[in-house]
Amino acid sequence: MWQTFCRYISYPAWDLKDGLGRLSEWRSLLRTQRWCAQRLRALQLQRLKHMVEYAYEHCSFYRTHWTTPPDIQSIEDLEKLPLLYKSDVASHAGDIISSAFPKTTLVAAKTGGSTGTSLHVYFDELCQKKRNAAAMRSDGWAGWRPGVPIAGLWGSPPIPRTLKERARNLLHDRLFYLDTMRMDPTSMSEFAREMRKRGPTMLFGHAHSLFIFAEYLHQSGLPVPKVHGIVSTSMVLLERERRTVESVFGIAVNNRYGCEEVGLIASECEHHDGMHINMEHVVVEFIDADGQPVSPGQEGRIVVTDLNNHGMPLIRYVVGDMAVPVARTCRCGRGLEIFDRLTGRTADYLKRRDGSQVSGISLVEKTLTAISGIAQLQIIQESLDAFVLNVVRNAEFDDLAYKKLANSISEIFGDHVTVDIHLLEGIPQDRNSKYRFSICRC
Ligand SMILES: [Zn+2]
Repeated sequence: MWQTFCRYISYPAWDLKDGLGRLSEWRSLLRTQRWCAQRLRALQLQRLKHMVEYAYEHCSFYRTHWTTPPDIQSIEDLEKLPLLYKSDVASHAGDIISSAFPKTTLVAAKTGGSTGTSLHVYFDELCQKKRNAAAMRSDGWAGWRPGVPIAGLWGSPPIPRTLKERARNLLHDRLFYLDTMRMDPTSMSEFAREMRKRGPTMLFGHAHSLFIFAEYLHQSGLPVPKVHGIVSTSMVLLERERRTVESVFGIAVNNRYGCEEVGLIASECEHHDGMHINMEHVVVEFIDADGQPVSPGQEGRIVVTDLNNHGMPLIRYVVGDMAVPVARTCRCGRGLEIFDRLTGRTADYLKRRDGSQVSGISLVEKTLTAISGIAQLQIIQESLDAFVLNVVRNAEFDDLAYKKLANSISEIFGDHVTVDIHLLEGIPQDRNSKYRFSICRC
């Protein structure tokens, strides 16, 4: 009954109020996912050709960066264009923004935890809606439907305060959260109790948060709240974490992968046999250390071209993670291509003296988005009371940023902690090209 109301009244009303686009795109994605891979690639090529030509025409960065006007006759022709790195986006954002949009009409975002790098990115409004639609499709693979209640594990979650926000949450979003900036036995048992009371259909969260929560439920012996679907968002879901979450909740986890810069990249379907690429919205390449495409079965760096964002086109953007493209198809029958063994961004939980834990990804995200002057940040907890912050600066970094950084740690962990700030040229990745936002050594 409630879901019928949401599906036919509340969601269409929301779509209408925001300007149409979200629901029609969702319906379109539900159709195209059933196309064969060949037909999907033809659609991709058509959109790619348009986006590359558009970027050349409207973004001064690409006119300078590319030696000749692009000529895209096949998806493989994309390989002739140079790669776009985070450092390019950091230093040339203004020139990557399309001249077709006044900057003030674009949706601005500052990336943080999902990349470990602070970048200013912009999207046009239709792009934002298409990204919502892609998330709706992939969440649907995990059991989500419009209007189902959702429990979320997120850092500094938005708390509905005004009457309008509360009404929207009650009627529409139906979300409640556990703040991953403080995960301790009290907050987790309270959240578990709330889940048992409200009976959410879905549980969403970053991989590590899901793992910590599941482990707590297991060790405390509390009754495990029932959910129909679990979606691990944004970060890499480690096998060990997946096994724990699945055995505690007794259902499979759906892994969803993306980043703020290009939106949803890929996600698992109900068969959990690889990550289906969001082919209608992104072209994903896998390249080796020399920039050459890898063969199916070989691990490569993930390079994404966003087919939606006309506000700030990102063409051949190097995301910073690795995966293995595969040639097989999935039993679900969807034509969306798949890849395996996603590796990359990880973050440890950090510890307070009182035994509570702090989500490393949430802390990096909060700090990066609040303090200007930091290009990249890594937090290392050497002991309960000693922290090392590895910082890559940009031109805006000043003495105040130093102070704010130290304060951001002592606010969370107490005034007694020591904070050593190391300024570096770059933050090294470990073996396997993994970038760790936060490392706990205690
Ligand atoms: Zn599938």
